[in-house]
Amino acid sequence: MPRMGLLIDYEYCTGCHTCEVACKQEHNHPAGEWGIKVNENIVVRSQKVTIDYIPFPTECCDLCGHRTSQGLLPACVKHCQANCMMYGTIAELSKVMENKPKTVLFAPR
Ligand code: SF4
Ligand code: SF4
Repeated sequence: MPRMGLLIDYEYCTGCHTCEVACKQEHNHPAGEWGIKVNENIVVRSQKVTIDYIPFPTECCDLCGHRTSQGLLPACVKHCQANCMMYGTIAELSKVMENKPKTVLFAPR
């Protein structure tokens, strides 16, 4: 079985938090526990403000094994309106990363 993971193309992440909510509903996480968290990175340079939203899975993420074993996408990937999350093998996701400037790859063991 190849190693699987999540790729987040945060260049297009809108910071909508839908992935957080979808994960929480799917796993019924209690208050204060999250499978993925959207981080905000604000940089001010030469009077220009840049905001990046960078979602990153937590140690509670199990890659939605109960869904993917049935051929379904992980809940966060399915519900991301910006279509900026991918589930796949690390080999596939690494290839996609080569052409993307702002990505996060999550590859749990
Ligand atoms: S659902 Fe998609 S666009 Fe919204 S915060 Fe998560 S990764 Fe970003
Ligand atoms: S893959 Fe599943 S468990 Fe992991 S962050 Fe996405 S919805 Fe949550």
